[in-house]
Parts: sequence; structure tokens; C-alpha cells
Amino acid sequence: MDMNAAECSICSQDAKTGIKLFNNAICRECEEDILNVDIKDIKYEYYKVVIKKMWIDYILAFN
Ligand SMILES: [Zn+2]
Repeated sequence: MDMNAAECSICSQDAKTGIKLFNNAICRECEEDILNVDIKDIKYEYYKVVIKKMWIDYILAFN
């Protein structure tokens, strides 16, 4: 994946300044959001699903 053309896996925005999680780019805003989201927030369930999918894709890439 081209680091300079990274697109956030969650919001599809430019994730140049973000982090990499299991080979997926995550922008700063989403990273902050993930870290601060309340478990009672509906977004928590969404992030859980997205991150689980990233994790599964990551594992499959090695098999
Ligand atoms: Zn994002």
C-alpha cells in the first residue's frame, strides 16, 4: 500500500497523518474516536466490526 495515498479504512478520508492497523490506514480523527468512544455508543459496535474485519483480512493474508 502506498503510504502517501492512504485512505482511511473507516471514513475514507485522507489518512496520511494517521496510523496503520493491520495494514489498514486509519486517519487521526478516527483513531481518536476509536480510543475515546463509549462502549454504549452505537459507533463502538461499528468500530468493533470494522476492526474485526481488518484483523481477519490480516490473518488471511498470512495463510
Ligand atoms: Zn477516518
